[in-house]
Amino acid sequence: MRSIRLTVAARAALTSALMVSASVVANAQAAQAAKTPAKAKPTALESGVDKLAATPTVASAIAAIQRDNAWTLDQQASICQIPAPPFKEEKRAASYAERMRSIGVQQVRTDGEGNVIGEIRGTKPGPTLLLAGHLDTVFPEGTDVTVKRDGTKLTGPGIGDDCRGLAVVLAVARQIVAQKVPFNGRLLIVGNVGEEGPGNLRGVRALFNKTLKDSIDMFISVDGTGIGITNGGVGSNRYRVHYKGLGGHSYGAFGMPNPIHAMGRAIAKIADLEASSKPKVTFNVGIVTGGTSVNSIPFEAAMDIDLRSESASALAEIDGRLQKALRDAVSEEKARWPSSKAALSLVIDTIGIRPAGTTHDSTFIVRASLAAARTMNLYAPLTISSTDSNVPMNLGIPAVTLDGGGVGRGAHSLDESYDDRTDGYKGPQWVLLVTLSLLTQR
Ligand SMILES: [Zn+2]
Repeated sequence: MRSIRLTVAARAALTSALMVSASVVANAQAAQAAKTPAKAKPTALESGVDKLAATPTVASAIAAIQRDNAWTLDQQASICQIPAPPFKEEKRAASYAERMRSIGVQQVRTDGEGNVIGEIRGTKPGPTLLLAGHLDTVFPEGTDVTVKRDGTKLTGPGIGDDCRGLAVVLAVARQIVAQKVPFNGRLLIVGNVGEEGPGNLRGVRALFNKTLKDSIDMFISVDGTGIGITNGGVGSNRYRVHYKGLGGHSYGAFGMPNPIHAMGRAIAKIADLEASSKPKVTFNVGIVTGGTSVNSIPFEAAMDIDLRSESASALAEIDGRLQKALRDAVSEEKARWPSSKAALSLVIDTIGIRPAGTTHDSTFIVRASLAAARTMNLYAPLTISSTDSNVPMNLGIPAVTLDGGGVGRGAHSLDESYDDRTDGYKGPQWVLLVTLSLLTQR
């Protein structure tokens, strides 16, 4: 995830930074609901989810997930040992398709972008819910992806992000099929490509804009470990900005626009941008390069810029001010040397655009996710992150990213680990209950 998906620590920091926001009120309510289920009077939805969990087929599916926990962990480890660098997910995708077929998922196919898609049909008409994990990792080709096991702990690149999600999605699909759990509508099971930084959400974009355009009513991505609900999508606009000029000797050619000076003017303007804290808006010049020697007027300077916000309109607004600052820097540097004929140009390359969006706390998908956690006596905080759900959120389609249980460490690092401890199976149990709630409770 991210740019990259926020690390656990960063998410925790972000969550605490939100202590002043409205989400926290919801979090507190959720915490209360999760911790004191006996005292709080359940809502109609909560009672409905309690009843759902107690129906024979659903109870069997929940029990089977715990009983077959070793199968889930085997899937997680074996999927992870198939390399899936950005834009090279084919091998893992082919294996994932095979795994889907072997558990009885129907109509398994691969779309033009490389996403693997299968279906489980409900017994009555109803909505279409897409349940996905992402196939890609951040690790380049040639990375040693051997998974080491030590008791309940698995160590290997991508083992949590998102081999856990992929395994949880399979475990949920497998039990819905095996226990013949009735539901309304259609459940799409997906392993999608391109979630991590370089992929720029290309897999999910293709699903919503092309492959499954206008046919998805709800979206769940299983990504991350622990128990939590991401219902806010941080959007980002990233650019590599170049200032280009003629260049020349610092003494002999003096008196012409200097690309580094122009970029300095731009950076000073960016540094002074006003940004709101609610909704949170951020800007950053992260990398600067340029020049060839101390006594040369450079012919080029470049910088990488990152703008972020959970609000699409706030992101668009600061983007407009950034673009103006970049252009004004050119005209000011040119005006500094009015008699020079040397050109000074600005080139803006887009590195990545991630749409922002929010699935409001009051929507059915968030309430059902919280209700299922309450039924299972789990505490599921609401958080904001950058995940595959950004795309549907931006389109106004109800979407959440759910954690897959267990305890993860070191996402995006070579010593990434996942510890199932004693109750990792609660992750897939919860995802199963959320999925079935969404397909039966409305
Ligand atoms: Zn991920």
